[in-house]
Amino acid sequence: MKITEIRCAGLRGATPEGGWSNELRPDDCIHTLVVVHTDEGLTGLGSAFTSDTLAKGALQILEPLYRGENALEPERVSEKLHQNTFWLGRGGSITHTISGIDIALWDLLGKRLGEPVWRLLGYERTYPKLPYASMLFGATPQATLEKGRAACRAGYRAAKFGWGPIGLGSAELDADHFMAAREGLGTDGILLIDIGTVWQDDVNKAALRLPALQACRATWLEEPFASGALNAYRVLAKHCGSVKLAAGEGSHTRYMAEHLIDYAGLGYVQIDAGRIGGLSVAKQVADYAHARSVAYVNHTFTSHLALSASLQPFAGLEQDVICEYPFELKALAVAITENHLLPDRDGYLHTPDAPGLGMRINRNGLQPFLVDVEIRVGDKVLYRPPKL
Ligand SMILES: [Mg+2]
Repeated sequence: MKITEIRCAGLRGATPEGGWSNELRPDDCIHTLVVVHTDEGLTGLGSAFTSDTLAKGALQILEPLYRGENALEPERVSEKLHQNTFWLGRGGSITHTISGIDIALWDLLGKRLGEPVWRLLGYERTYPKLPYASMLFGATPQATLEKGRAACRAGYRAAKFGWGPIGLGSAELDADHFMAAREGLGTDGILLIDIGTVWQDDVNKAALRLPALQACRATWLEEPFASGALNAYRVLAKHCGSVKLAAGEGSHTRYMAEHLIDYAGLGYVQIDAGRIGGLSVAKQVADYAHARSVAYVNHTFTSHLALSASLQPFAGLEQDVICEYPFELKALAVAITENHLLPDRDGYLHTPDAPGLGMRINRNGLQPFLVDVEIRVGDKVLYRPPKL
């Protein structure tokens, strides 16, 4: 089976807020669907955490390398794409686009063999994951408290509060938010705090908040520093006590993730399969982390297609229980697939058993977002773009 064409479509129209100081607008594109077409009509679906403007440029450069390639060899084909473009954008747009291609190739292989991707990655079985409700801090401590209560009412036993006002004002105000998050979530909930790299490499600012983080019994402190500030992480880790450090979503190559694991004193490494190079690379990082007793966690907050992809690399790791789950999903993310991954009655999330990623595109759901690519499954046109 040969690759005939790879198309991408930026999903825009209901992009969720990211908590950034210059906030995302609904029409900004951070989530690009990647579709691999083959000469046998089978289609693979992938998802890259990037803008379609960048992905379309990258696809032009990659096209001579992938056209005619064997569509059933995701690892080899992805590595070929990486190696032949290392000087042109590795760790950036090229890698992000290859991530989407790699995910789509695994989806294709799974569909062709009738197997879920996690089995093809080497796992014998999957283990249930405990989803944490991933959300932004409120504008005020009271708003943060209400968000914690909402997650609790929705049945979540874990929640992550991130970004927004945290780290930008006084340590006292941050402490109020942390305690409000704990109060909202309840005594027993697993509380996770995400700083969103706002302190860059300033260890003192982070250290000032540690007593409050310990007092509210935060399980992890996520991304206090920029992704590459390994020394700042290493120094802070010595003072964290019961609070573990978490980072990794800013890893755009396998080596960035491995350096974080080796040198940053992490308890948790968080990998976005749609950024780091796809499932081939994410699985390598999961193995690397597992061998060094660092817990692997998925990073995702766009669609259930991306969520399914994010679960595959650590689906079979029994000890790594906690997983990110987009609590405040916007319409776009929910609408693009017919099926969704929902926690079971006990609150656990399961990686799909269906072939490939186990997700089905929703033709009608895509329509409102003006996706500009035709999507076929077999010889059937599932979605035809509107004329723009
Ligand atoms: Mg984060």
